[in-house]
Amino acid sequence: MYWEQEKECLPREDLEQLQLERLQSTLYRVGTHVPFYRKKFNELKVDFDSFNSLDDLRRLPFTMKQDLRDNYPYGLFAVPLREIVRVHSSSGTTGMATVVGYTKNDIKNWSNLVARILCAAGLTADDVVQIAFGYGLFTGGFGLHYGAERLGASVIPISSGNTKRQIQIMQDFKTTALVCTPSYALKMADVMMEMDINPHGLSLRYGLFGAEPWSEAMRSEINERLGIRSSDNYGLSEVMGPGVAGECRECNGLHINEDHFLIEVLDPKTLEPVAPGEIGELVITTLTKEAFPVIRYRTRDLTRILPGTCPCGRTFARMSRIMGRTDDMLIIKGVNVFPIQIESVLFDIEGTEPHYRIIVERENNEDKITVMVEVVESIFFDEMKKQRALVDTVKRRLAAELGIHVEVKLVEEKTLERFDGKGSRVIDKRQL
Ligand SMILES: [Zn+2]
Repeated sequence: MYWEQEKECLPREDLEQLQLERLQSTLYRVGTHVPFYRKKFNELKVDFDSFNSLDDLRRLPFTMKQDLRDNYPYGLFAVPLREIVRVHSSSGTTGMATVVGYTKNDIKNWSNLVARILCAAGLTADDVVQIAFGYGLFTGGFGLHYGAERLGASVIPISSGNTKRQIQIMQDFKTTALVCTPSYALKMADVMMEMDINPHGLSLRYGLFGAEPWSEAMRSEINERLGIRSSDNYGLSEVMGPGVAGECRECNGLHINEDHFLIEVLDPKTLEPVAPGEIGELVITTLTKEAFPVIRYRTRDLTRILPGTCPCGRTFARMSRIMGRTDDMLIIKGVNVFPIQIESVLFDIEGTEPHYRIIVERENNEDKITVMVEVVESIFFDEMKKQRALVDTVKRRLAAELGIHVEVKLVEEKTLERFDGKGSRVIDKRQL
């Protein structure tokens, strides 16, 4: 099931040629109309007429979230305000807002790309789509709304909140697809239980989830409890909103809409490309945006490009689900370590609980990393031999994954403090 087969299955060579042409016109656009980029290009003496390969991208400057804030509200727009038909804004966690704008054509492309992702997930014009994302300055609600309409589906623009009413409407209007955050989907499942409603008796078949990181385990739980197929999609306001990437029915990574976005995965410290398949920071250059093009925007999101081709036939590269933020990265003995790598190793080993703490210290000018991991009672109180075998297994697997030696300490179930955020699972005692 394709929305635009010709584009989604474009041979890589043709795709790269298209990307290069679109990159050139984007550079011309920002170099001419956006003083911020004009100044940067002049400083770096970037002559984009001489661009003849996608690798030349690496000569271009990065765009940071702070650049968007510094140019609040309209400083980075590449068209006069009279050509803007929509404005969105995100407040961000630090309070200072960023503003993005769209021309008529941008809205058309945006809707189309979201329709692509909905179609890839299995939705058709026959679906009834309940959008439980907030409507307003946030791009999630409107982005999915226009995309679902473009697909021809029946849209219920219920917005976020009031879970009981959401469920009532879901039941009465025979909703077939739910759009929200994955955690809200689980909340709905809880409230359905309270209301004594069997989710499997509803018309619901699909869940399109995004706007926050989630795990494969969470997907299984949602699918099982709501009796649906859920898929992941990715986007961010600074680049467009939802519609940047999304899973097809194979659910093996998110296809990136590469004819509209040029992506790089870079080491967040050196800003050099990581080896194929390695985790790094996702950096995005828009290729078709008119009002608000961005060059090498550093998303701070961690992902990796998955190897191989997808059986669905789409030629667009696939990225893994978002694996955290660059702020989570630790540098230990000069090696980049991501807490998600440790977590995934622990998940795979029987007997270890998914609760852990990572402690980083510096002794005699040398970094030392200790992973404290909760183990099930039967092992903790078992003979020393079994404990030692488990410690060895965890150590060996972590060394293979991270490339460095890690100390492992087993602790009794429920002894580590529980946190919501991943970042707080790391205690860095080094004063760097
Ligand atoms: Zn696919």
